Amino acid sequence: MTASVGTMEMPRAGERAETTVKPVGAGLAGRVKPLIRGLSDMVALADRERKRTEVYAPFNRECIGAVPSCEAADVRVAVDRARAAQKAWAARPLRERTRVFMRYHDLVLDRLDSILDMLQVEGGKSRRHALEETLDVAINARYYAAHAAELLQPKRRQSLIPFILKAWEYHHPVGVVGIISPWNYPFTMAVSDAIPALIAGNAVVLKPADLTPFSALYGVRLLYEAGLPGDLLQVITGRGSVLGTPLIEQVDFIGFTGSTEVGRKIGEQAGRRLIKTSLELGGKNPMLVLDDADLERAVFVATQGSFAGAGQLCISYERMYVQSGIYDRFLEAFVARTKAQRLGSALDFSVDIGSLIGASQLEKTVEHVDDAQSKGAQVLAGGRSRPDIGPYFFEPTILTGVTEGMQCYREETFGPVVSIYKVDSVEEAITRANDSEFGLNAAVMCRDERKAVDVASRVRCGTVSVNETYQAPWSAMGAPMGGMKDSGLGRRHGIEGLLKYTESQNVSLSRISPLFPAPGLSVEASAAAYVAMLRLVKKIPGLR
Ligand code: NAP
Ligand code: MG
Repeated sequence: MTASVGTMEMPRAGERAETTVKPVGAGLAGRVKPLIRGLSDMVALADRERKRTEVYAPFNRECIGAVPSCEAADVRVAVDRARAAQKAWAARPLRERTRVFMRYHDLVLDRLDSILDMLQVEGGKSRRHALEETLDVAINARYYAAHAAELLQPKRRQSLIPFILKAWEYHHPVGVVGIISPWNYPFTMAVSDAIPALIAGNAVVLKPADLTPFSALYGVRLLYEAGLPGDLLQVITGRGSVLGTPLIEQVDFIGFTGSTEVGRKIGEQAGRRLIKTSLELGGKNPMLVLDDADLERAVFVATQGSFAGAGQLCISYERMYVQSGIYDRFLEAFVARTKAQRLGSALDFSVDIGSLIGASQLEKTVEHVDDAQSKGAQVLAGGRSRPDIGPYFFEPTILTGVTEGMQCYREETFGPVVSIYKVDSVEEAITRANDSEFGLNAAVMCRDERKAVDVASRVRCGTVSVNETYQAPWSAMGAPMGGMKDSGLGRRHGIEGLLKYTESQNVSLSRISPLFPAPGLSVEASAAAYVAMLRLVKKIPGLR
C-alpha cells in the first residue's frame, strides 16, 4: 500500500521498508573469545575480588565476557601506577616514544580482521563502520608519530628587545591524563585521544564505556604489544557515575567524549580543580543541499552520513535543509536509497547498517519517531524496529513535516533518524542550520566549490564537509576537530590535539639587568627611551 506525496510513491507511515533481512549469526561469543582472553586481567585493581559486569553482543544479546566493576580504590591504584611510569617515559628521547606509535599503526592494520570482529560483536555496528573507526586509529598514530618532533620541540619566540632578550616556548607533559570514552566508536574514542597524550610524554588512565570495555582493552593490549612501557596506560572498567569523580580528582587533565549532559558535570568538576579539560559532546548535525548540488552525490552523502553506526555517530546528520529547486528529486532518490540499505549482523561487508547498541538507545529512537508521527510528521522510509533481524535493529528512517515541539526537532536522537526540511534560499538553509544549541559537524552539497566553502564557513560547527561525508574532515588530521556551542570544548587532531596535553612554558633570558630603568638612565629617561623604542619597533616589519 502506498500513499502519494508529490511525484513520489512511498510507503504509508509505519509501513515496513524493503530492507534486506540478514539473520543474526549464532556463536558470536565464540568468534571473539580468543581476542578477549586475558583482557580483563589488564584492569587496574586494588582488590582482585571485585564484582564483575557482563558484556553483551547487541546483535543477539549473547554474553561475550565480563570485566571488573572497579571502585574508587582502583582509580587510586591506576593513577599511582601511571604516575610512577610517567617520569621515565617523559625522559625518553621523543624518537623512542614515537617509534612505538609507528609500530602501533602497522599492528592495527595487521590485526584488522580481529579488530573488526571485536567492534562488530561488542558494538553491533556494520563492518564498514567498524573499518572507518579502525583506520582512524591507525591514522592518528601515524600522524602524531610523524609530527610530534616538529610540534613539541622548544621554539624560539619573539621577545621585546632583539639581541638583548631571548624567549623560548617549551611544552611539558601535564602528567597523568584521564580519558573517559563512549560506547559508540569504542576503539577510536578510547585510543585515538590517548595516542597524542602518550606521545607528549604523559601517562593515561582510561575509563571506557561500560557497554564496550573489550574494544578499548583490545586496543590497549596492542599498544603494549607495540612497545609501550608497562603501566603507562591504565584501564579502569565500571560505571562512569562511580569512577568519574575519583578520576577527575586525581588526574592532571581530563578528556571526555560523550553526552553534553555528562560533559557539563565533568567540566564543572575539572573547573573546581583547575585542571585542563577537553569535552567532545553531542550534536544535531545539519546537512545543506543547495539547488546546484550533484544529486547523486548528495544522496550518497546523505545516506552514508546519516546512518553510519546506525546513526550513533556523533558527527552523523540528523537534519537536512534542502533547497526547493532540488527538493523533490533529492527526497525521492534519498528515500529510495535509504530503503535499499541492507540491515544485518553479518561479520563481513555484505551489510550496510548494523544494530543499535541496546535497549535504551532503541527506546529513545522509537520514542522520537513515535512522538514526531503522533504530532503530524510523515515517515517516508523506515520508522520501525526490526526484532526479526536482532533485538536492537531499527530501520533507517526519513521524516518530513517535523516541527518545533517534536523531540527530534532539536534533541539529538543518536539513532538512524533524519528529518528533511525544504528551504527557499541559501540564507534560510544557513540560518536554520545554525538554529541549534549544538555545533559539532555539518555538510554542504553544492557544485560551485567557492560558494560551498563560503557557505560552510558560515555554518557554526567545528567541522564542515563540502561534497563529501564527515569522512573528509574526520580524516584531515592536520586540522582541529571538535564542537562549537554545546558540542564541546577543545579540539582533537592537528596541533591542538597534541599541545592540549602539555603545559606550555615561556623561558626568557635577558643579557642586561635591570631591564627597567635601563642601565645608566633615570626612571624618567628610561620611560622616554622605552616609548621611543616602541614607536620605532612598530615601523620595522621584521621587529614588530
Ligand atoms: P555518556 O552517557 O555521556 O557516557 C560517556 C562516558 O561517560 C561513558 O564512559 C560513561 O560511563 C561515562 N559517564 C557517565 N556518567 C558519568 C559521570 N557522571 N561522570 C563521569 N563519567 C560518566 O555518553 P554515551 O551515551 O556513552 O555516548 C553518546 C553521546 O556521546 C552522544 O551524545 C554523542 O553525540 C556523544 N559523542 C560525541 C563525540 C564527539 O567527538 N563529539 C564522539 C562520540 C560520541 P558508563 O558507560 O558507565 O555510563
Ligand atoms: Mg550513556
